[in-house]
Amino acid sequence: MTYRAKGRMENLEFVQFHPTGLYNPAGENPTFLISEAVRGEGAILRTKDGEEFMTKYDIRGSLAPRDIVARAIDKEMKMRGDECMYLDCTHLDEHAFTKHFPNIYEKCMSIGINPMQEMIPVTPVCHYLCGGILVDKMGRSSIQNLYACGECTSTGLHGANRLASNSLLEAMVFGHRIHLDLVERIDDLSWQDNIPEWDTFESKQPVEQVLITQELKELHEIMSYYVGIVRSNLRLKRAMDRLWILYRETEALYNDSAISPKLCELRNLITLAYLVSRSATMRRESRGLHFTTDYPGKLDFLDRSIL
Ligand SMILES: Cc1cc2nc3c(=O)[nH]c(=O)nc-3n(C[C@H](O)[C@H](O)[C@H](O)COP(=O)(O)OP(=O)(O)OC[C@H]3O[C@@H](n4cnc5c(N)ncnc54)[C@H](O)[C@@H]3O)c2cc1C
Repeated sequence: MTYRAKGRMENLEFVQFHPTGLYNPAGENPTFLISEAVRGEGAILRTKDGEEFMTKYDIRGSLAPRDIVARAIDKEMKMRGDECMYLDCTHLDEHAFTKHFPNIYEKCMSIGINPMQEMIPVTPVCHYLCGGILVDKMGRSSIQNLYACGECTSTGLHGANRLASNSLLEAMVFGHRIHLDLVERIDDLSWQDNIPEWDTFESKQPVEQVLITQELKELHEIMSYYVGIVRSNLRLKRAMDRLWILYRETEALYNDSAISPKLCELRNLITLAYLVSRSATMRRESRGLHFTTDYPGKLDFLDRSIL
């Protein structure tokens, strides 16, 4: 919404993937996460044949940082044509495991996997967006009087690679700062109260749901296959070409049909997918969470992607 209102967006190519989402062929949204603490407890990542593969990529093995682990799993999956890799907990103490990870144990059991007897199927999942609406240190966006706070923003706090479990930093520190800034400015703010009611265009036809679900499916595939953990110029170009088609089709639907939350969500997702892909195309280096095979090295200066 901010981008459509001509607000500035920053560093949207830095998308963090959690390395070990529970792979459930039945499909589940959001994906259930197998906490990284499980690897901390001694669980080991393996292929379906039981081969330990992480030490090929990093001397820390399964304990390497999440972006390295996510990239390694992605590479092994692509090389072998497998849908997932596996987290082996079978050698861990059952009592300690069920005490420390009761939810994970219960969830695995609920889909028929006993983590003490068989390996847990895992796959990297999209987890956190470091970039977003460009804000200053008081949470002000580039649009007058529009504040933004939380994961939707780019505060610079996370750089190009966020550490795990620090969402509170954005939510609380910036929430508090916005409060302080507003208290100071509130008496000087002017309000526009002559905004017309939303015209619901009752005469317009409701959109056929299949059109939305199919576009969502395509969008999901485009982003997963072409703008995922490892990127390249060719993949990004393919993504941009296909997103352009989805964009045109969805704008036509939006203009000609009665709007619904699902249609608005699809439209927003396409805009965001475009922004992530465009920002990734602009960055000619690999840094933090952005990795491209065409520019594997890091530039020796900092460059921000601003749209
Ligand atoms: C599975 C999972 C596990 C995570 N675990 C951790 C963790 O352990 N530690 C950690 O620090 N972080 C974790 N994160 C990240 C963390 O949850 C998020 O960064 C944080 O919740 C973001 O808070 P937020 O308020 O900015 O956004 P959100 O919590 O996403 O809130 C945004 C709200 O806006 C609403 N909304 C969206 N669009 C519209 C619209 N058009 N109109 C009106 N409302 C709208 C949404 O419904 C939602 O309620 C995890 C994330 C995931 C997905």
